[in-house]
Amino acid sequence: MSTIYQPLPEFAHLDAQDPGLLRAVSEGQARLTPEQGLDLLTNAPLHTLGRYADARCRSIHGDRVRTFIIDRNINYTNICTAKCIFCAFKRKGDEHDAYTLEHEELYQKVQELSDIGGTQILMQGGMNPNLPLDWYLELLNGIRERFPHVKIHAFSPPELIEFVHFFNPPGKTLVEKVQWVLIRLKEAGMGSLPGGGGEIFAPAVRTKIGLGKCDMDAWLQVMYAAHSLGMFTSASMMYGHIEGYADRVHHMRSVRHWQDKAIRDFGTGEVPTQVASDPTVKNPETGGHYLGFISWPFQPDNTALGRLPHWPTADDIDPETGETLPFPGDVVAKLDGSGTKDLDSRFGRRLRLAGSTEYLRTQAVSRLMMDNIYSIGSSWVTMGPHIGQVALRYGANDMGSVMMEENVVSSAGTTYCLDEAVLCRLIRNAGFIPAQRDTVYDVIKTHTGPESPDLKVKDWSEHRTKRLHIESEAEASPTVSVTIGES
Ligand code: SF4
Repeated sequence: MSTIYQPLPEFAHLDAQDPGLLRAVSEGQARLTPEQGLDLLTNAPLHTLGRYADARCRSIHGDRVRTFIIDRNINYTNICTAKCIFCAFKRKGDEHDAYTLEHEELYQKVQELSDIGGTQILMQGGMNPNLPLDWYLELLNGIRERFPHVKIHAFSPPELIEFVHFFNPPGKTLVEKVQWVLIRLKEAGMGSLPGGGGEIFAPAVRTKIGLGKCDMDAWLQVMYAAHSLGMFTSASMMYGHIEGYADRVHHMRSVRHWQDKAIRDFGTGEVPTQVASDPTVKNPETGGHYLGFISWPFQPDNTALGRLPHWPTADDIDPETGETLPFPGDVVAKLDGSGTKDLDSRFGRRLRLAGSTEYLRTQAVSRLMMDNIYSIGSSWVTMGPHIGQVALRYGANDMGSVMMEENVVSSAGTTYCLDEAVLCRLIRNAGFIPAQRDTVYDVIKTHTGPESPDLKVKDWSEHRTKRLHIESEAEASPTVSVTIGES
């Protein structure tokens, strides 16, 4: 894994589609500049992107195995102080369907996961001001005591920022305050920090769509604080709404830059020899960094953002020339994130959704741009199983989480539901051996023999794909239903 963390040279003088450049990038010998990344995203043929992203993926992960994890997405509360206009999940505290799960209910969910061989919970919630720090510490301790084999992948940078506001920890800087909170959560059993709430970092976009949610600097500093404590994290991006293409590249370069910083400041997790041999050092706390990245298109159903008019509208036609005016997000977006809404009065009033090819392009560019990130996840939960499968040939090495519930993306209208056998079959039919992994991407079980979840299935009718938001429980198959959560 460590070879991907070497600093790479930029060949800034080369055209983005120069085969020599793309070959060097796919072999891990060169780093794309943001300009080259944008050129690839907007101009390169789809299959060229796929070919080189796949080559890059193979140079990191080999040709044989592609992975998934069995975990459960637990959304402990939907009460939230933020007003993200893309969110169909949040509730105010006084709404009839607002909820906060009791600890015992949460333990029951972890028990159900444990019963099917799950190894991780992804536990996130709204930013709920009613929950004191002790509520979290008691919960984490309770899960760890009851289920020591289950890793707790929990919370997100926006939740951590609200913890700082709610709990008022000591510290001079934001990083110190977040460290204070994280140290306590970690001691209570939290293992790693998911990259939820990444959306799009560029301030012009973020202030429009994520009202009340932390800004880019705070998001990245929370992650840096986690890395300083030796914690692994992930990063995410949600696109295909009001942002421009340059915003996506800016987002990727920001994660890449802070990954460089984490690797430089905290190493890669290999314990230095002199520390390992020093019996007085029990916990060297090295190696915290981003392990994975996943991106997916915005899901518009039941959201305020989804009600924006789709570009181009009649008002986007120049009356003199008859030509279509550019998408306002592209007018505003800058590769350094400095674009402002003043650059186009239509900004934030037009929607440009992303479909399957847009998804594959963006994911392929993320694999090529983010040379220092180990894993790229396929987002079959939003794109469906077959595009999710194709994504394994567009730079993704991981099919994400097989799990038992999902509440956030399904609130916005899209959640596909697959079980472990189907997930294995998708990976195998894409030309790879499916393997169950753990939180840090180590393989737990490689599915090669006749007892593999997919190879022992005789009747696939029990394993058809379901979509949670249109199928009731009564319609669902009696097999364990699994869905995916992302972060
Ligand atoms: S996306 Fe998260 S932070 Fe934003 S309103 Fe929804 S639950 Fe709250």
